[in-house]
Amino acid sequence: MTLLVMKFGGTSVADLERIRHAAAHVKREVAAGNRPAVVVSAMAGETNRLVALTREASPLHDAREYDTVVSSGEQVTTGLMAIVLQSMGIQARSWQGWQIPIVTDDAHGAARIKEVPGNELLRRMERGEVPVVAGFQGLGPDNRVTTLGRGGSDTSAVALAAGLGAERCDIYTDVDGVYTTDPRIVARARRLERISYEEMLEMASLGAKVLQTRSVELAMVKGVRLQVRSSFDDPESVPPAGSDAPAPGTLVCDEDEIVEKQIVSGITYAKDEARITLVEVADKPGVAAAVFGPLAEAGINVDMIVQSVSDDGRHTDITFTVAAADLDKTMSALEELRAQIGFKELRGTTDVVKVSVIGIGMRSHAGVAASMFKALAEKSINIQAISTSEIKISVLIDAAYTELAVRTLHSLYGLDDL
Ligand code: ADP
Ligand code: ASP
Ligand code: MG
Repeated sequence: MTLLVMKFGGTSVADLERIRHAAAHVKREVAAGNRPAVVVSAMAGETNRLVALTREASPLHDAREYDTVVSSGEQVTTGLMAIVLQSMGIQARSWQGWQIPIVTDDAHGAARIKEVPGNELLRRMERGEVPVVAGFQGLGPDNRVTTLGRGGSDTSAVALAAGLGAERCDIYTDVDGVYTTDPRIVARARRLERISYEEMLEMASLGAKVLQTRSVELAMVKGVRLQVRSSFDDPESVPPAGSDAPAPGTLVCDEDEIVEKQIVSGITYAKDEARITLVEVADKPGVAAAVFGPLAEAGINVDMIVQSVSDDGRHTDITFTVAAADLDKTMSALEELRAQIGFKELRGTTDVVKVSVIGIGMRSHAGVAASMFKALAEKSINIQAISTSEIKISVLIDAAYTELAVRTLHSLYGLDDL
């Protein structure tokens, strides 16, 4: 008997036919004597539709009411999944975030889960009931519905797995695992058998949207084993949890469980970046603080920062990146500080992309950055900013070169599926 969480993303519950197909995966586990808890997303496109409605109602709106609206997509799919499971002879019951409750903080629109009490659900699961839990939503300290940020159902699934003490958390999606890069842009991307939490965390936060970053963070902290797999598999032809045959897909696990360590495991790109340049600021102590202090106070996250060497010893340029959604806010905050900071010109653009190479092997291998820069130079791709950590190197380039850069690096590090 394996206690497991089975999460189905938007494409996997896009209509009743898909919901029936997903339900057949659940049925396989129940038939094998396992105890699954199900987490569902809203139907594909539904959350986008709801977000657009709130914007149309008023561009500036109350975040609590945004959550009331956008959380509703998951309520529909929990009920439909429960009905379909019941029609297959499985005892199923839907659960909204507030009913469990999935306790979160008060950051409406991007709430963090604090606790998922598992006792009541466990009691029912022991009696053979299958809970169908709404992903993406929780209950805030103000007793109102919260949502966890886009892609948040992954995090609901991991938090539920931790709360139940489940042996595994299966993430059913529209790809059959985690790939070396987004399979939609590189046809030769290869599925990874296993990937470490750390690498997956970097990949998620640097653009691979297959898992929400927070879900990986939480899985790493709580030691939840994540299996990313396809919901399109034939439910009857894949082995149930607990059998000798390994599950299809990609296992996200501890680094020690990975025998073959690659230097580079994955490549990501993130288009939601904006670049800002302050031209000719004074080259003297305190200027960086004058620029970045007020931005931090305004809650603007700055990512990459480059300060060029000053030619005349008096002036320099500062270039940095922020989330594209923060560009306007950042530009106006800096305009207001023009006199105080003292710069000649302020430039901002969203025509950039951040391309990153990720791998735990980089810790022990020198020269990855050098080979990356050389390969990009050979394709005449100019690097506008660089940032590194122990297991990743990111470069900011012109957005027009996204595919060329990702493909070039994918081949360079031997990731192509030949
Ligand atoms: P779901 O609705 O099931 O949550 P998402 O759309 O959030 O699914 O995530 C799956 C998508 O992530 C895939 O369709 C794929 O295009 C994209 N993706 C980006 N990078 C990767 C990667 N490295 N491996 C697998 N999928 C990726
Ligand atoms: N439905 C939500 C979204 O589209 C949550 C999720 O699917 O993970 O962002
Ligand atoms: Mg998702």
